Amino acid sequence: MHAQRIRYLFALAMLCPLLLLMDHVAEAAEKPVFRAGAATSNITPPIGKYGAARSSREAATHVHDELHARCLVLDDGESKLALVVCDLRHISAEVAAAAKVIIKESTGIPPECVLISATHTHTSGGARLEQKEGQPYYDYVAFLTRRIADGVLRASNQLEPARIAWGVAEEPSQVFNRRWFLKASRGPIYGAHDNIEQVDTNPGYNGLLQPAGPVDPQITFLSVQSTSGKPISLLASYGLHYVGGIAPGAISADYFAMFADRVGELLGADRHQDPPFVGLMANGTSGDVNNLERYSDEELAKRGPQEKKRYRPYEKAREVADLCARKVVEAHKSLAWRDHVKLTSVQRTLTFERRYPTKTEVEWAEAVKAKKIKPMSTSRYSTYSTVLAYASPEMPPTIDVVVQTHRIGDLAIAGMPFEVFAEIGLELKQRSPIRPLMNISIANGAHGYLPTPEQHRLGGYETWIGVNKVQLDASIKLVDALVEMLGRLKTEGQ
Ligand SMILES: [Zn+2]
Repeated sequence: MHAQRIRYLFALAMLCPLLLLMDHVAEAAEKPVFRAGAATSNITPPIGKYGAARSSREAATHVHDELHARCLVLDDGESKLALVVCDLRHISAEVAAAAKVIIKESTGIPPECVLISATHTHTSGGARLEQKEGQPYYDYVAFLTRRIADGVLRASNQLEPARIAWGVAEEPSQVFNRRWFLKASRGPIYGAHDNIEQVDTNPGYNGLLQPAGPVDPQITFLSVQSTSGKPISLLASYGLHYVGGIAPGAISADYFAMFADRVGELLGADRHQDPPFVGLMANGTSGDVNNLERYSDEELAKRGPQEKKRYRPYEKAREVADLCARKVVEAHKSLAWRDHVKLTSVQRTLTFERRYPTKTEVEWAEAVKAKKIKPMSTSRYSTYSTVLAYASPEMPPTIDVVVQTHRIGDLAIAGMPFEVFAEIGLELKQRSPIRPLMNISIANGAHGYLPTPEQHRLGGYETWIGVNKVQLDASIKLVDALVEMLGRLKTEGQ
């Protein structure tokens, strides 16, 4: 009897985990598991002046902090989405497209579900290395492409059950519109081609009337953590060009990477956790927004004499990173966590007419070339050769650009391959049928600045041919397309 009872209890004990397991299987079948994984991939170019590496920029001589492709992969059980932020000044459409081919092969994630953007750090070194005949050649483009793809594969390898949340913080104190109307006392503003313009970019500190456009103070973010609460990754987007204040000759990922590190620290991510926490800070819409504190004369008078703080190299970038990370972590305290959200994406290729110089600009350029006139503007961007190159019939008449929208539950992301003006991002946020909307600039390519037609009329550096490459009303076409794409995500995701 006793032995029989033991056998009975033993059988029950054996059966119980099986029953529990069957219960789990049934539950899993009706409810797909949401997963997230993140990884970084080192993309620092070589330093030092050695013959093998030629660059359009001065070669860096030191690495202050390594550059990374920061990768976050989400998986809703049916679809995956890869979000990549690279510590680079720009990302070329060719590199992004080539990396996506490898990513598709290695992870199965299709190109329309992969967003690859650049932060716009201005200290990413001589990233454009070209081949010089008869010399050994370091192909940074091939290295970069491969390292981005590897990062996504590694993030995908590390997918684990996760929960997700998103939110919006604000940091208005670190964003300043850099385009200004000036007081008449400052005299005329000369444009790229000796034309008179109404707006000046980075015009110094005095004689300022009012900024020519708004700023977007929002930091939109999404956060993923394991089911036990371990932080996996946090992706944020803020409309700030970059901070700078980096030591000369050094490679640095600027405030973007400092934010990525600091936000992990403030979220309590254990430095020894496996896999490590990955922070990402993307560039929002910051084409006309920087971190240089500028005020109108009127505002300066109200503020009274200001103490000018002198910063050591990297100090300002760290300060901005810390401020932004604190704001995000504060907002993070009241997030609503979801066990599962659906992932959907819509991608389009838009064809823009390329920018053509006006008859006056061509006449000016030809006169400068023939040494009939000497240009008034000393800007290195206002070259006659740029105008003549854009006037040449050899330049392709159109530019194809990849634009993306992604839906993650009730959060949407818009990816734009330009340095987009803040007001365009604000309009998009206002018109988006899915909110909040996270804007990511310099995504899947970099085709120059994107001002509005009205800002083109005002002039200023960002509107000049060469740094602006597409038709003057491109922003209208872009915003309309993105709103339509977001509308599709809204109805399809129901
Ligand atoms: Zn820029």
